Amino acid sequence: MSGGDSGKPLKPATRLVRGGRRKEWTGPVVNPPVWRASTHLYDKDADRHSAGGNNADGQFFYGRRGAPTQWALAEALTQIEPGAYGTQLYPSGVAAIAGCMLSVLKPGDRLLMADNAYDPSRSMATGLLTRMGVKTTFFDPRDLDAYGALFADPVKAVWLENPGSLTFEVCDVPALAAIARQHGAVSMVDNTWASPLGFAALEHGCDIVMMSLSKHVGGHSDLMMGSASAGKRWYTALRRTAQELGQVVAPDDAALAARGLRTMGLRLEAQTRSALRIAEWLEAQPQVAEVLCPMLPSAPGHVLWARDFTGGCGLFAFVLASDDPQASARVADALDLFGIGYSWGGFESLVLPITPKTYRSLMPCPTGGRPALRLSIGLEDTDDLIADLAQALTQAG
Ligand SMILES: *Cc1c(COP(=O)(O)O)cnc(C)c1O
Repeated sequence: MSGGDSGKPLKPATRLVRGGRRKEWTGPVVNPPVWRASTHLYDKDADRHSAGGNNADGQFFYGRRGAPTQWALAEALTQIEPGAYGTQLYPSGVAAIAGCMLSVLKPGDRLLMADNAYDPSRSMATGLLTRMGVKTTFFDPRDLDAYGALFADPVKAVWLENPGSLTFEVCDVPALAAIARQHGAVSMVDNTWASPLGFAALEHGCDIVMMSLSKHVGGHSDLMMGSASAGKRWYTALRRTAQELGQVVAPDDAALAARGLRTMGLRLEAQTRSALRIAEWLEAQPQVAEVLCPMLPSAPGHVLWARDFTGGCGLFAFVLASDDPQASARVADALDLFGIGYSWGGFESLVLPITPKTYRSLMPCPTGGRPALRLSIGLEDTDDLIADLAQALTQAG
């Protein structure tokens, strides 16, 4: 997307505003309208044949291939993802993970998966992928030597997540992806935490980048959706597999996601700022043993984070000093301004007691067995959130 007359590439904030809003999709209004459709009608039967035959993006055919509402969202996501040729939408983030796996892997292949990947990604590897004859080896993404040695046997693909789910370790994605590429393996990354605004995954060497749009893009805790973006070769594979699986997203949800996207940059900036202040405050509390947040200068992954990321978000975790296993639930129950619930990235703050150890095969878990909580910082006033955390930590003892 270049900037009209000047021809200069537009900055991310401008792309977020302009992305996908083609005149032929919006007409005279600002936002692409909701095109609810199963049937698309043709003037002549010959038109039906040509539309079906060339199977091009952005062409009317039948509801399962979407209509301008979904096309506009997919195009906007492509325009904010440096290096992407196209974006495939899915009805949830987990459906997007499945779409990536099924586009790349076939029976007999071997997958390497980072040990701190999102729990449902792990379950997909040990469940669905095992049943279809794909073998998965989990690895510690911080140990490049051990990872490199795994390529002694053939590897088809690598699944990364950066930072890792629940414990937020940062890995050296450019190095991991380069080793995969040397061995002819495809690298895929779950980039839900940073979004392309915080981490340009394809430019750092990955072949496919996946996101749960239910988080930052939706931003209002009222929709489920996922996406995968890639260069031409892998986008073509993603699209073909999604069509074979009959994946389609509702136009109403696509319109909500596109609306969320327009303010995502501002929300992420505000949530990052607030989260960093809260993380620094938590570090100084006697009831807190450790804060797991790569944006903190004291965090083990901070050097890599500062090298590779251009932004953060409001999601991090902390470990309590208490060894009472009920302590994290007591803190969560005592909080007034933080809802207890799954998901994150919405405008409202959330808290979740976590036990990351349950979801690891080989990485030592920084929480050990101690009670820990994950926070998703919303758009409330930071001082109010700190006051709420202070009273909850005191009350929970
Ligand atoms: C939530 C989440 C997903 C799955 O997304 P859904 O839209 O909930 O299916 C995938 N990866 C990460 C890192 C997530 O946090």
